[in-house]
Amino acid sequence: MTIDQFNFNGKKAIVRVDFNVPLDENGNITDDTRIRGALPTLKKILNDGGALIIMSHMGKPKGKVNAKFSLGQIKDAVSKALDAPVEFAEDCAKAAEQAKELKPGQVLLLENLRFYPEEEGKPVGIDKEDPAYDAAKKEMKERQKEFAKTLASYADVYVNDAFGTAHRRHASTAVIADYFDADHKMLGYLMEKEVNAVDNILKDIKRPFTAIMGGSKVSTKIGIIENLMDKVDNLILCGGMTYTFAKAMGGNVGDSLCENDKLQLALDIIEKAKAKGVNLVLGVDCVAGDAFSNDCNTRVCSVMDIPEGWEGLDAGPETRKIFADAIRGSKTILWNGPAGVFEFDNFTAGSRAIADAIVEATKNGAFSLVGGGDSVACINKFGLADQVSYVSTGGGALLEAIEGKVLPGIAAIKGE
Ligand code: AMP
Repeated sequence: MTIDQFNFNGKKAIVRVDFNVPLDENGNITDDTRIRGALPTLKKILNDGGALIIMSHMGKPKGKVNAKFSLGQIKDAVSKALDAPVEFAEDCAKAAEQAKELKPGQVLLLENLRFYPEEEGKPVGIDKEDPAYDAAKKEMKERQKEFAKTLASYADVYVNDAFGTAHRRHASTAVIADYFDADHKMLGYLMEKEVNAVDNILKDIKRPFTAIMGGSKVSTKIGIIENLMDKVDNLILCGGMTYTFAKAMGGNVGDSLCENDKLQLALDIIEKAKAKGVNLVLGVDCVAGDAFSNDCNTRVCSVMDIPEGWEGLDAGPETRKIFADAIRGSKTILWNGPAGVFEFDNFTAGSRAIADAIVEATKNGAFSLVGGGDSVACINKFGLADQVSYVSTGGGALLEAIEGKVLPGIAAIKGE
């Protein structure tokens, strides 16, 4: 079933959204992108004449009630965004009465699902090494099913629109789907868009396909790098990873970020790229600083020859040119992870050069997907988010999807 095919008239829909929005110290929302992202789905249900039960997590309360993470704080913002009054259920597992009373057009927001350890389904207060851990885990999985069944009992239909948590088998993201038949569970619009964007990258590839992987460490990106190696024509590796590669190739990287236990891995990646005919593009020069700060002294140097006391903090001018050239001619582009410490205004040039080249390629008909945590913050900082094909809301979920893993939240609905 797809959301467009379904008529919600007279139905109660329980919708898993990702309202894990950032709040300031006074509980005010500092970025409402995630609320806006869910609106098409939520409005479709209300406009059809359905009633809405909205559920989400916020932060990491670790299975305990914690006012700091209460979704009550965003009730008014949700109400405003939906242009409808919103009721609040202070206990998400005891909302049956409130759900029963809901009339078409009405909205009930459930309290943070993660106030219950059953949501994540991980036993609390017991170490993995403990001999009793397996039994505790089994028991928690049973409790998770009960919790999911309770949530399911509130509604006639289940919609999952939370891509950010689709890689987790939680009560509200996957287990709950077992309590609805195939005609009464579906992905929301945001989720559909994310799935289509990933399909564009993985299935419907127009070449050349260039992936740009940046960020701080090789170790956190290795799964995706290996998976992409079978698909891409150009693989640009930038950001902090640059220096692990440079050192592996015999360079002096000074005080740069470097994973000394990943030098062999870096060499293996270089060999693998050669064997597969992938054009591996690494930085050749960098902007180095004499401290990890925006205002440090800087110098441009070869990535193979960074003096002691200096660390590479951004891609150098020659590197920017090489990266931009590779990107400009591409027809499919994936960007995950900045090319430098873009949070410091003096070290944004590398990431900016990548973003500009992606925008240019997109104008020339390329499909460009930007996603995974920091690259989104980066493209937003440059004000270019609307000039790429798609900016994903998913961090870990996007990376796992691109690694080729089946996401439990999607499999639970599509049965793949
Ligand atoms: P990740 O979460 O692995 O995608 O890494 C993103 C972070 O990597 C950002 O906060 C960047 O500031 C950081 N980063 C990028 N390039 C460098 C670098 N050359 N040295 C240190 N940190 C970097």
